[in-house]
Amino acid sequence: MTLFDSPAFQAHESVHAFSDEKTGLKAIIAVHSTARGPAAGGCRMWDYASAKEALEDVLKLSRGMSYKNAVADLELGGGKAVIIGDSHTQKTPELFEAFGRAVESLGGRYWTAEDVGVSVADIMHAGKTTQYAVGVEGRPSGSGDPSPITAEGVFRGVKLAVRHGLGAEDLSGLTVAIQGVGHVGAILADKLHAAGARLIVSDVDQEALQRIAGRTGARIVAPESIYDAEADVFAPCALGGTISVDSLARLKARVIAGGANNQLAAPEVGRLLFERGLTYAPDYVINGGGIINVASEVHGIQHGHAHNPDWVEGKLSRLMETLDEVLSRSKAEARPTHEIADEIAQARIKAARP
Ligand code: NAD
Repeated sequence: MTLFDSPAFQAHESVHAFSDEKTGLKAIIAVHSTARGPAAGGCRMWDYASAKEALEDVLKLSRGMSYKNAVADLELGGGKAVIIGDSHTQKTPELFEAFGRAVESLGGRYWTAEDVGVSVADIMHAGKTTQYAVGVEGRPSGSGDPSPITAEGVFRGVKLAVRHGLGAEDLSGLTVAIQGVGHVGAILADKLHAAGARLIVSDVDQEALQRIAGRTGARIVAPESIYDAEADVFAPCALGGTISVDSLARLKARVIAGGANNQLAAPEVGRLLFERGLTYAPDYVINGGGIINVASEVHGIQHGHAHNPDWVEGKLSRLMETLDEVLSRSKAEARPTHEIADEIAQARIKAARP
């Protein structure tokens, strides 16, 4: 299959492959759209089974970023980077410096930041060789790790989805099953616990699970068992594609609201869950907090001012109003939430095209 025939290729503006023999870098950067501004989206480091798998992932993720940035009303297009490799064993400062050179070679068409497998420290190394690396610390425009703001948005989104889906005004006494307690999932767990929710958690990282269970009293289940959990809300916070025809058949939760990107294994699954009466908070709407934080840094660099948490809060509040609108329209128009969100994003991208 060629790039252009891949179902994940959706009129991407450009796709770039980079290798660096000295550091072992193998990376792909996909620029889906620059209609609303320079493409922005995180860099993922993952031990993909093949280059084809990495390519499909970066194509899907970069398109998702165009939609996410449009729905959050940011002056940014959509792009994403993947580095092929094991983030636990193959990371070096030099690898990220080589990645920074790759980003720099695109001349500002793409801005990078953290994603799964990539930390603030890694992005700081990339920042030695490119001016287009954000989510850094230690300079006035620096916005740091985007995960806390992502988790805050997801927490507010869970409450909205629960109100629409279950008619409950607060989370006390409800059970939330969290798949993945990494950067986003762990902070979300703390917030849900503080709001009175009971937690069921899964991860492949036993230490992360023990930390969360110790803090929140969460019940730990095996990764595969999370789909069978007796929960009111399912919060996917690990990798994408976990809501499929199969997992849907097992879910007890009536609400799906979590931080992971590309949660639906296929768009048809979004329709299926709607027909079964489940409430789904579209992934790129509920998890847009982090990129809003990153956008504040991009603006700061472009216009010479400091990171602005007030601006971030304003954008996050408006994004949650958009999520509220999506959930209300889904009921009123009897249509799946992901279709309504896609429509809003597509209209904004189209309107921005010269
Ligand atoms: P992370 O790498 O810190 O956490 C992911 C967690 O999922 C890890 O603890 C990992 O061990 C776990 N995991 C992996 N496979 C699993 C499995 N089969 N079952 C259960 N757990 C599993 O990443 P993160 O930054 O927390 O991001 C989580 C998700 O949220 C990703 O999909 C990411 O793209 C998305 N996201 C993150 C941000 C952000 O600001 N960090 C913003 C938007 C979207």
